[in-house]
Amino acid sequence: MSDKAWEQLRSWGRDPGTAAILTDIDGVLAPIVPTPDMSEVPEELRELLRRLSGRCRVVAGISGRAAEDALRLVGLEEIVYYGNHGFEILRPEGEVEIVPEAEPYKEKVEELERRAREELEPLGAFVEEKGITASIHYRNVSPDVGERCKEFVEREGERLELRVTVGRGVVEARPPIRADKGTATRKVVEEYEPQNALFIGDDTTDLDAFRELEKLREEGVLEEILRIGVKSEEGPPEMVSEADLVVEGTEGVEEVLRVLAGES
Ligand SMILES: [Mg+2]
Repeated sequence: MSDKAWEQLRSWGRDPGTAAILTDIDGVLAPIVPTPDMSEVPEELRELLRRLSGRCRVVAGISGRAAEDALRLVGLEEIVYYGNHGFEILRPEGEVEIVPEAEPYKEKVEELERRAREELEPLGAFVEEKGITASIHYRNVSPDVGERCKEFVEREGERLELRVTVGRGVVEARPPIRADKGTATRKVVEEYEPQNALFIGDDTTDLDAFRELEKLREEGVLEEILRIGVKSEEGPPEMVSEADLVVEGTEGVEEVLRVLAGES
């Protein structure tokens, strides 16, 4: 299986203009570190991506981070970023755009944030400004204030027709549309129309991208696809079982990109 995948990479590398490179960022281009703001993309990997962006159909970073934050971390103006669960797009030399389906909910999210700031921040909760999604953190408050946060966001979310999800110490409200790495993958492919596309990921949310690539191939939109998994202790087992090629760490990712760039 993996010999075939390497051979495929080599053949794409001989005609890189037909290929799209789609990649997660944390755990793929940047090694996982204790806190996300300590993350860094190794310089060699950045230069390799820069060279590839000039040769390939498109290079896209697809991340759960805000698109601006993804750009700051990768440090390349030349590539496209899909951020914030696939809700945001940042094209080369452009400004952050919200995907059109989510745009009608922008004001509602802002209204919820405003109300949460008035009602919940005096109680010790923290309202994080994330643009098209609202996150209210209550990790550092008493359990009853936490309950009040959840109830408040659930009630307001329902009134404003937003989707509310509760995580560990955080309650989030977002537009009630599907947006994930799979929808982002489809948008990149539809916009740039490559013949072949690969996605490199390391975690559960990346599986949506793997599955969307498979669909795009079945639909005949893509000729060839490669799902490349970066193996880790914490990653889901599907990262290995659903991948066409499994690599280790950013060194493994670098090897993949070198082959594509015809440098290995
Ligand atoms: Mg990741």
